[in-house]
Amino acid sequence: MYSISNEVFNECNEPREDAKILNDEYSCCSVYRQIISDFIKKEITMNFYEMTSPEYETDRASDRANNVNLKMLSFPCIECSVCGQISCGSRFMKWPVPKKNLRAFQKRWPIPSEDWFRLRDDYLDEVNLPKETLILPGDIIGVDSAKISSPKLSDIIFPSVAVFLFGERAASVLQNAGFTGAELLKIPVSFSGKKYVDIEPPVLYQLRVTGKANNVGSPDSNIVVCDVCHRSISSHVTRVYEVDESRWDGSDIFNIDENENMVFVTERVREALLTAQLNNVVFKELPLPVLPIVLEILDEQKARLQP
Ligand SMILES: [Zn+2]
Repeated sequence: MYSISNEVFNECNEPREDAKILNDEYSCCSVYRQIISDFIKKEITMNFYEMTSPEYETDRASDRANNVNLKMLSFPCIECSVCGQISCGSRFMKWPVPKKNLRAFQKRWPIPSEDWFRLRDDYLDEVNLPKETLILPGDIIGVDSAKISSPKLSDIIFPSVAVFLFGERAASVLQNAGFTGAELLKIPVSFSGKKYVDIEPPVLYQLRVTGKANNVGSPDSNIVVCDVCHRSISSHVTRVYEVDESRWDGSDIFNIDENENMVFVTERVREALLTAQLNNVVFKELPLPVLPIVLEILDEQKARLQP
């Protein structure tokens, strides 16, 4: 409950009993807006940001800034014999890389469901994972290795969808500050070509995000629409991200609505990375969520309320 003093109330020429905050776009008089924005500052303490690559002027500039060639191993996408659709995700797992059936993993996708389930069972068998491990089409088993053509790399690198690489300096900023919600996995790096045979390749880490949050109004988890291929639909595709703080696990680094393609961070992470002046990364501020405010209207103020 939030009450407005008579002094302020009398200055407002369009007071209303039901108020909603939508950033600064509150449609009322300026006095009222001031009250609302003070309220936002008092009630919402967290600012969240998407951590992403800068806008590049050309494709070449993008390639130059992210010039790492990754070898990744993923479960194939599936062409489902039950729902008839193609199911394919991009979850990042940390499972052992198999030695057998590598060709099957690399075959052109999607593959028929019978082949997919056979591949999955063989894989679980080979690497000794529990039989009930949930493996979904498109799951990335891991980054196998990275090839680079030059020792000069950006601090943070975005070589492919859902892959975020940190160089030595960027990684140490994260590690020293003890951030939660992600781990850094060292990946084997080698030079392509013979030009740099005499020098050690730089160290690269893959950011694996474990922190979770939900968007305002989205379901707790994606809705599975097919029990066979586990194809799911989510509400995040075209919407604006607004973190529902009551369903955020408090991590400094997190995904929203299980979407691994985007990484979100707290102000603390943003500040640490900006202070270190790391290149090839930008932070986009997320809008504040809409909050209903209940106003307490004094009796003498009621007469002035608009119908
Ligand atoms: Zn299906």
